[in-house]
Amino acid sequence: MYECEYCKTKFLTEMNFDRHMCDQEVRMKELDTKRGMSAFKYYRAWFEARRLRIPNKDTFVVSKMYNTFFKFAVFAKDMGIPDTTLYIKFMVKNTVMPAHWYNPDIYNYFMDSFDKDYDPMTHVRITFTSIERISKALDCKMGDVFSHLHPSDVIKLIQSRNLSPWVLLLSKKFAAFLKNDVNAEERKLIEDVIKLNRWEIILENQRSQIPEIKKYVAQLDL
Ligand SMILES: [Zn+2]
Repeated sequence: MYECEYCKTKFLTEMNFDRHMCDQEVRMKELDTKRGMSAFKYYRAWFEARRLRIPNKDTFVVSKMYNTFFKFAVFAKDMGIPDTTLYIKFMVKNTVMPAHWYNPDIYNYFMDSFDKDYDPMTHVRITFTSIERISKALDCKMGDVFSHLHPSDVIKLIQSRNLSPWVLLLSKKFAAFLKNDVNAEERKLIEDVIKLNRWEIILENQRSQIPEIKKYVAQLDL
C-alpha cells in the first residue's frame, strides 16, 4: 500500500502512486519558492492581525484564500510595499478582505492614509530600513545612497514610500541630490511623487517633531 503524504490518498500499486500528483502536493512545493514563502507569511500575518490562531502550511494549501495570497504576494513585490505587516493591519482595521488588497484603489487609499495618519517615527523607521538595505546592496555608506542611485530608482522608492518625505525633506544630502544630480524634468517628477504641496502642510502641522527627526537624519550623515 502506498499513501500520498499530502492528501493521504492510498494506492495499491506503485505505478498509480507515481502517476499521482494532487493540488496539495503542487501547492506544498510552491510554498518552498520565494513567492510561496511570501504568500504563506502574509496569510499568517492576516490571522495575527485579527488575533486568531496562526495557521500552519497544511491549512494554507487547502485554503480558499491560497490563490488570493499568491496574487497579493506578486502585487506587494511589484508595488514595493515597504512594510506588508503594516499594510495587512490597515486592511484588517478597515475590514477589507484579502481579495481586495491588490485593488489599485484600495492600495491608493492605504498610501493616502500612510502619508496623513501614520506618525513620523513609522516613516523614519521604514525609510532607514530601506536606506540600510540599499547601502548594503550598493556597498556604500548609508549617507551616500543618493549619489549611487539613478533618479528613476529614487522616484520609484519615493512613490512606494520606501523613502518617506519625512526624511527626504529634512535631508541635506537629498537636497543636494535634487540640486545637482537631476534634470528639471526629473525634479518635477520627484516633487509630484512626493506630493510636495501635501507634505508642506504635513510638516507644518507637525513642526514640533522636526528637530527630533533632523537629529536621526544627521546621525546617518544624510
Ligand atoms: Zn496527494
